[in-house]
Amino acid sequence: MGGNELKYIHEAFDANWVAPLGPNVNGFELDIETFLGADVHVAALSAGTAALHLALIACGVGYGDEVICQSMTFSASANPIAYQGAVPIFVDSERDTWNMDSVHLREAVRDRFSRGKKPKAIIVVHLYGMPAKMDEILAVAREFDIPVIEDAAEALGSTYKGRACGTFGRFGVLSFNGNKIITTSGGGALVCPNLEDKEKAVFLSTQARDDAPHYQHSQIGYNYRMSNICAGIGRGQMEVLKDRVNARRAMHAFYVELFEGIEGVTVFSEPSADYYANHWLSAIVIDPVVAGKTREDLRLAFLADNIESRPLWKPMHLQPVFADAPYYGNQFAETLFDNGLCLPSGSNLTAEEQSRIAAVVQGLWKARS
Ligand SMILES: *Cc1c(COP(=O)(O)O)cnc(C)c1O
Repeated sequence: MGGNELKYIHEAFDANWVAPLGPNVNGFELDIETFLGADVHVAALSAGTAALHLALIACGVGYGDEVICQSMTFSASANPIAYQGAVPIFVDSERDTWNMDSVHLREAVRDRFSRGKKPKAIIVVHLYGMPAKMDEILAVAREFDIPVIEDAAEALGSTYKGRACGTFGRFGVLSFNGNKIITTSGGGALVCPNLEDKEKAVFLSTQARDDAPHYQHSQIGYNYRMSNICAGIGRGQMEVLKDRVNARRAMHAFYVELFEGIEGVTVFSEPSADYYANHWLSAIVIDPVVAGKTREDLRLAFLADNIESRPLWKPMHLQPVFADAPYYGNQFAETLFDNGLCLPSGSNLTAEEQSRIAAVVQGLWKARS
């Protein structure tokens, strides 16, 4: 926590605003809009997953429709497609950003068209806070007139060509889950291009109640609005977001230096100055032939010293639950999954903890020679 979260929570208690609406919700939304710096309207919700679900509904996704989704991601990017009874079409990643490959995207769209189906939306992810190649993705989306939903759940504070991630697509999705760069304990937001879309999202997130003195409903609603207590945490967290991004970027710099002399290990880094990543998680890929060690060798060496690290996201087209979904690509996501590792990346890692990490890495590669 940053320090002021409790102040906002106390304000909510003092005013008895203990509900999924109130001054903290409005204030938090305004803070996010200001931070994103683009002309957007933000709806604070109970989760990033809820925001994705509402984005799909707003794009008109329904039963039997097809939605294109980056395969290399966390399952929450794809699950809401299934909530709508729609079919996910998975697309591989490209080497620079590990995000959706526009060549395979175009191939997927063309092939679905040839089968008589126009995809209803494209879900692109900014993995681990690394901005996707939005120019290329948006070019395909425009060519075929398909709305883009930008899953920026991991990328608050990242920019592409100077513009905030989450503000490129028809809709953007943010997450404030406990593991993200800032948190409201659980929470998310839908970034909308206009007030009308935001109001529609808020309406659906509060049980879709029609304007009447009694309870009347003409549409299926959801209980997806953010609580005024959680939003109070969010307001405090927004005050330290820039510090958190700097701390994560410092961890990334630490790993770049640590692995500098070790051949066959690549630290996941921005491909050019167009990209500014929040480096939510620092990650590496290990070429076992060149490095002489595998991803598992390093993971187990860390584990032996009680340091947790994890393989990258397992691609969605390899998940048992999505085994039947079509996939377009060239197995790059598989390579990432086989050889990639997420490293300890917390904003609060002490110098002593960093030394322990360094000792494991140096010990493993010294053991080789
Ligand atoms: C965390 C995450 C989500 C879901 O956000 P929640 O707030 O946990 O529901 C969606 N997509 C990605 C890529 C995520 O990392």
